[in-house]
Amino acid sequence: MTLLSLVRSAGLAVLALAPIAASAAPLRVVTTTEDLASLAREVGGDRVAVESIARGYQDPHFVEAKPSFILKLNRAELLVVVGRELEIGWLPPLIQQSRNAKIQPGGAGYLDASEGARILDMPTGQVTRAMGDVHPQGNPHYWLDPGNGRRIAQAMQRKLSALRPADAGHFAARYADFDRRLGAAEKRWDAAMAPFKGTKVVTYHRSWSNLVGRFGLDVMGFVEPRPGIPPSPAHTFSLMQEMKRAGVKVLLVEPYFDLKTPNSIARETGAKVVVLPPSTGGVPQAPDYIALFDHIVRLLTGALAGAR
Ligand SMILES: [Zn+2]
Repeated sequence: MTLLSLVRSAGLAVLALAPIAASAAPLRVVTTTEDLASLAREVGGDRVAVESIARGYQDPHFVEAKPSFILKLNRAELLVVVGRELEIGWLPPLIQQSRNAKIQPGGAGYLDASEGARILDMPTGQVTRAMGDVHPQGNPHYWLDPGNGRRIAQAMQRKLSALRPADAGHFAARYADFDRRLGAAEKRWDAAMAPFKGTKVVTYHRSWSNLVGRFGLDVMGFVEPRPGIPPSPAHTFSLMQEMKRAGVKVLLVEPYFDLKTPNSIARETGAKVVVLPPSTGGVPQAPDYIALFDHIVRLLTGALAGAR
């Protein structure tokens, strides 16, 4: 063997080993919510190590910043955010203090999951946070449509493949498997929800636009006068009149809101309060994205059937 061929074969050996070495350490992914974390695990499998900042039982608009979050972000190779200003009240200073150039907005390690998603409730006039509305860029609870879960997973597949080209085949195969399982689950959910198409409901926060749109329910009103604005006696009074007129029997409440106003609305109108978890990990029955919808559909169909 000549010296040249020895160098060549050694060089090839290094090249051949490089992708294995690169994928040996899982890519460190930080997501803002557990829904995004679940989707990242679906696509990334054992080639990613995923951590979420917010817990599933927390109101994602209002998360208390902790120093440990900055450390997580400092080490992250990819940050995935819900976007649409959902995290604007707590995330920007954490990203800034992480001193991690990769995960700054617009950086190679930053993914805004809302970019390819179907966004509802886009404001028509000018809406600013100064008005107290926490949905100034459309509804940020868009993960509550399985179609958007698929779009988010696809965006993650593209991003992970760009960051780890050697694992692109792995990510593509895992995305295809998730897509297939989600499609089968959607058939199940559509069939369970079909009898309730057009049923009128009221919700506390405007979290469920995508979900009710997907399954054909009709949201008649909200306990909050505007997203992020606490209920007022005048608004609650007119909401109860409308509920009685329209015969609304189901009131959906996110687990992090006080039940005082919903319970008094229920007493006055005869509606049933249903506490519905909007995020993965919020309750033990929803350990991942698909299980979350199974749980929501189970609770919803039970309440809707009981209200008939
Ligand atoms: Zn919201």
